[in-house]
Amino acid sequence: MSTLDEKVPCVECGKPVSVKLASKRNGMCLRCSANRNPFFVLYSSLIDRVCHAPEGFESLSEAAKLYYALTLFRNEINNGGFHQFFFNSSGSYYDLIENGLGTFDDPQTRELLHRAKEVIFAEMPVPVDMEVRRERMRECAPSNLDELDQRFYSMPDTLTPKLKAFARERGLVSAEPASEQQG
Ligand SMILES: [Zn+2]
Repeated sequence: MSTLDEKVPCVECGKPVSVKLASKRNGMCLRCSANRNPFFVLYSSLIDRVCHAPEGFESLSEAAKLYYALTLFRNEINNGGFHQFFFNSSGSYYDLIENGLGTFDDPQTRELLHRAKEVIFAEMPVPVDMEVRRERMRECAPSNLDELDQRFYSMPDTLTPKLKAFARERGLVSAEPASEQQG
């Protein structure tokens, strides 16, 4: 057995975790490390409220709405590209996200989002209703968006640091930068 396969107990929950992973995460397993990350905790709590609170997304503060929508946008693109972003519920937040990228001074990302929108919806506004949006998307093969996906993936991630700073400034997470090491 090589050193890299060796397991140590997670300092938080005691579950076995590889030495390599533990050394990267302050001796913690992936789950405990994530639970210590205030941005992970924040996003999880926002998802919970959007899915389970009676007013859902509308129950969030303006700052939380923006943080949630832009984080969802980033995650959907990273996961499945622009086609997936528009296909899923995330596409309903298009206007908020496009404006938010302006507020966050992220013109390159905003430009890609806008071009993706034009590929699928041309001049029409992005339908907020998911079924209407999906109906419209039938005409558009996901591969039409490949180039824009690739451009997004090749850009440095400027959005995440801005989202983190925004969450701290607006008091969505504690202003303590101690958790930054979780990166
Ligand atoms: Zn653990």
